[in-house]
Amino acid sequence: MTHYQMLIGGEAVSTTKTMDVFNPATGKPFAQAPVSTAADLDRAVAAAKTAFPQWRDTPYAERKKCVQRAAEVIGANADDLAKIFTEENGRPTEFGKQEILGAAYWMGELCKFEMPVDITEDSPTRRIEVHREPMGVVCALVPWNFPILLASWKIAHATLTGNTIVLKPSPFTPLSTLKLGELLRDVFPHGVLNIITGGDELGPMMTAHPGFAKITFTGSSATGKRIMESASHDLKRISLELGGNDAGIVMPDVDIDAIAQDLFFGCFINTGQVCVATKRLYVHDKIYDQVRDKLHGIAQAMKVGVGTDADTIFGPIQNLPQFKRVTNLLDDAKATGLKLLYGGPVPEGDGYFIPLTIVDNPPENSRVVVEEAFGPILPMMRFTDVDDVIARANNTDYGLASSVWSKDLDVAKSIASRLDAGTVFINSNSSVSTPGTPQSGHKKSGYGIENGLAGLLEFTQMKAIYIPKPVPAA
Ligand code: NAD
Repeated sequence: MTHYQMLIGGEAVSTTKTMDVFNPATGKPFAQAPVSTAADLDRAVAAAKTAFPQWRDTPYAERKKCVQRAAEVIGANADDLAKIFTEENGRPTEFGKQEILGAAYWMGELCKFEMPVDITEDSPTRRIEVHREPMGVVCALVPWNFPILLASWKIAHATLTGNTIVLKPSPFTPLSTLKLGELLRDVFPHGVLNIITGGDELGPMMTAHPGFAKITFTGSSATGKRIMESASHDLKRISLELGGNDAGIVMPDVDIDAIAQDLFFGCFINTGQVCVATKRLYVHDKIYDQVRDKLHGIAQAMKVGVGTDADTIFGPIQNLPQFKRVTNLLDDAKATGLKLLYGGPVPEGDGYFIPLTIVDNPPENSRVVVEEAFGPILPMMRFTDVDDVIARANNTDYGLASSVWSKDLDVAKSIASRLDAGTVFINSNSSVSTPGTPQSGHKKSGYGIENGLAGLLEFTQMKAIYIPKPVPAA
């Protein structure tokens, strides 16, 4: 069995206590991951603090080189990482590899930004410069659905801007991130990047630790609230990328055959475990039956299975608690008499498999519409009136992303402008997201920004310097 170790101050660190890591395709443990103690956390924060002054003073161009090198190393090891990824995450290996290559691409693209210096006055008597400076040690908390991509974002944002970082993956997907730490061990000066793992108690221990200047968190809105509360004690800076219940709106003028695949994958990609997946699909009454039947046909043709099988398109739900949550939503839909349309068969056994499922025109207040399923259940609803569908799309506490589908781009843009969401995709889905574009959740979907220059600047604090100009000789 591979022995996975944490990365603290450039050293590979083992712990006496370890935890099981499960393969979601079998429901069985297959590896062990370290469980950090409070002393391990203290050690990681101390290592990051020690590394901070020199890293802060390292020229931006040199920091970029380290991040670019990290991107190259990740890309070069994509195959090895993808094997571990599939075993712990469940996603088919080829799609796991796409995430890893995406992480490398993302890190490289973020390096293209320069840190701005704003000049707010340049008069005969003085010049005022506003500089961006790092904050210190960043606490990074990552969920299980995109463990490597989201870790890479946090590593790139924090280190490019001159911070050092202690990163914790989800207890459900620790291994690929520990492997990442092993690969990047000598890419950054020791102590700049630290990776620790542990169970449910480690996240709260980290957010309460006084050594962190900032917390960057991606995960559920419920946890986001706890983090905000915990951060308040030290007034730590926070960025929260949270849950969503994204609406898709399909107008009657679309070419159904032309959009069907993008529409389908925008809803079900990664077995629905994507923050910016379409989780409520509103289709105009005139084309509703055709779109529903088309999506149902695609679902029936898709193979749901073990991620190591080459022809699998959709893997299992990633972990048991999430499997129970999604199963519970489905049970509720059945118990309340909703009409369910299933995709193809799923493997039998103890794996966390759920068939791709369309819920045919459920009431707006049913749990499957109101709650973020984060699984392969798609409620599809009819609409006839644009104002009505916009109101229904916005009638949620969430505001992460949305999509609008229409041949008429003016109509689509006007609908987009009225949706309460940080991102709106027109005639496309979240697969078109770019590193250069800020991602930010409205309402309870987030607090702060990731990606783009605005995302990088979230990891900095401003310093205004007032510089007097010499008085000209009389
Ligand atoms: P989660 O909130 O349970 O956990 C996320 C991370 O936080 C994990 O590392 C976890 O161990 C840690 N954590 C849990 N409780 C904590 C606490 N009290 N204090 C500190 N850390 C704690 O989320 P999840 O189930 O891993 O991920 C699924 C959720 O993430 C979904 O709601 C999804 O929409 C959201 N998500 C959002 C984005 C985005 O960019 N907005 C991206 C991916 C996932």
